Amino acid sequence: MTSTTGTLEGQTQLTALDRCDRCGAQAYVRAELASGGALLFCNHHGRAVEGTLRPKTLNWIDESDRIS
Ligand SMILES: [Zn+2]
Repeated sequence: MTSTTGTLEGQTQLTALDRCDRCGAQAYVRAELASGGALLFCNHHGRAVEGTLRPKTLNWIDESDRIS
């Protein structure tokens, strides 16, 4: 296990501590913006915003396949 504390910079593994910016559910999508910063979304909101937001991101990290 790696530590889940500390900076999120460069981190691609979302944890239970990462929460959707829209609804507060556990986040499975991390959108790293070209303008800087990152947004977190649950599976639902990740899908909802992907069409408009994804073109503006440098990295779109979708870990929704971890949902069991
Ligand atoms: Zn959400």
